[in-house]
Amino acid sequence: MDRFVYTGLPARVIFGYGTIDVLAAEVNELGMTRPLVLTTPEQAATGERVMSILDGKTGGLFAGAVMHTPVQVTNAALDIFSQSDADSLIAIGGGSTIGLGKALALRTDCPQLVIPTTYAGSEMTPIIGQVDQGRKTTQSSLKVLPETVLYDVDLTLSLPLPLSLTSGMNAIAHAVEALYAVNANPVLSLMAEEGIRALAQALPAIANNAKDRRQARYDALYGAWLCGICLGSGGVALHHKLCHVLGGTFDLPHAQTHTAVLPHALAFNAPNIGSAMERLRHALATDDPAGCLYDIASTGGAQMALRDLGMPKAGIDQATELALQQPYANPRPLSRDGITALLSNAWSGARPGAA
Ligand code: NAD
Repeated sequence: MDRFVYTGLPARVIFGYGTIDVLAAEVNELGMTRPLVLTTPEQAATGERVMSILDGKTGGLFAGAVMHTPVQVTNAALDIFSQSDADSLIAIGGGSTIGLGKALALRTDCPQLVIPTTYAGSEMTPIIGQVDQGRKTTQSSLKVLPETVLYDVDLTLSLPLPLSLTSGMNAIAHAVEALYAVNANPVLSLMAEEGIRALAQALPAIANNAKDRRQARYDALYGAWLCGICLGSGGVALHHKLCHVLGGTFDLPHAQTHTAVLPHALAFNAPNIGSAMERLRHALATDDPAGCLYDIASTGGAQMALRDLGMPKAGIDQATELALQQPYANPRPLSRDGITALLSNAWSGARPGAA
């Protein structure tokens, strides 16, 4: 890190308990007059709540967001956006809803106010992934970066424990890789270490009491915000590449796949990332960061084996091949044996050895 580049991304962030009470003021601040409200079918009631807070001054509610941002869903939402004369967007939900908002912003360049209710971190990034006819493509554009992000800890209390854990591990993965990605820099390393520390403390407490409003849910969302900045302003490496390949090839669930792979990707890279490991030991208060991350997730009840998520055993060779076909910048050079061993361990769900 003798030489580095840091690119800060513009976003207004409101954070705390009950911050939904400033929603109408923030909508005004952004000059939105008819925002289309977006969410998933499962969170339709949360979308209705936003509608009632804004007292009908919206372009309507589209509660049809789904995972992976399929273009057909975007087109359906775009029709409603045009028909209702909407001038802006409010996305309330996890990465799937936020992805839909980004897809609409990409096409309309309208302002977005985002209210994240998971820890996935998409709200802090200019990245959008979309699926068209079974093919996922990813691009980066400042058009999709939300103007305002309103984090309300109270809205995360309903996040079920399994998703809380895996979503938190998904966030930690962003920060872990920002520590050793090619464009790592000291500012992001500070945020990464703090984000990992906050989430690693919060997740076991949430596993004990998923409705722990006071500290654990606050810390988890705070950590997720910092980890999201790491993803948005930093870079990624082998872990994210593998999760992308696994998700796309075997249709594995996003956050769960990150959870099962992260300890093994970190154990693989550990010999080549001395200063990042030092930060991780500090953040996690352990000599064995990879094992510690595995323990946090598995003790909380997360599934740690890719085979239990639906990956066939033959997929280990297939995914290894795909990962090697388009090599990704990674601190430890990729080898067939190394990737196969990493994926075999993640497939069976074994605990990584001490790093
Ligand atoms: P998700 O948005 O798919 O949500 C999973 C389920 O949980 C949904 O049914 C949702 O409605 C529900 N849910 C969300 N918050 C809830 C709450 N507080 N209470 C009750 N239910 C709640 O899951 P996710 O893991 O947040 O997002 C995954 C998607 O985000 C993937 O498609 C991934 O590719 C994308 N993603 C994108 C980026 C990026 O920078 N572009 C970053 C991270 C993730």
